[in-house]
Amino acid sequence: MSNTSYRKALFTGKCPACREGSIFKHPISEVMHFAEMHPQCPVCGAGFEPEPGFYFGSMFITYAFNVVLVTLAGVTMYYFWSLPEWLFLLLVAVIAVGIMPYSFRMSRVIWLYWFGGLRYNQRNS
Ligand SMILES: [Zn+2]
Repeated sequence: MSNTSYRKALFTGKCPACREGSIFKHPISEVMHFAEMHPQCPVCGAGFEPEPGFYFGSMFITYAFNVVLVTLAGVTMYYFWSLPEWLFLLLVAVIAVGIMPYSFRMSRVIWLYWFGGLRYNQRNS
């Protein structure tokens, strides 16, 4: 029986149906495998891919994440550090690549939570 909150389950990448099983196979620290997902929940068996190409739409969330984060980083650096343009652009590019695993995973999790059709059911676990 899981008492994990919706928000905690979402931010830790847990199954929307039972909030216990991990959506991704490996921790995000394994950079070569950060994108590998379980086809269904290892705890309750809920399917994580409702239809082929389901996660195509999560690219829009990834894009929104990147726009917000790169804008914040860019504005902060531009106004507080007064860097030369080339260094500023380089740092923004490094930040954009650096947050990629996080934005990729969070956007897939959010997409699954919003559009995956899985409802929380404590009795699943
Ligand atoms: Zn589950």
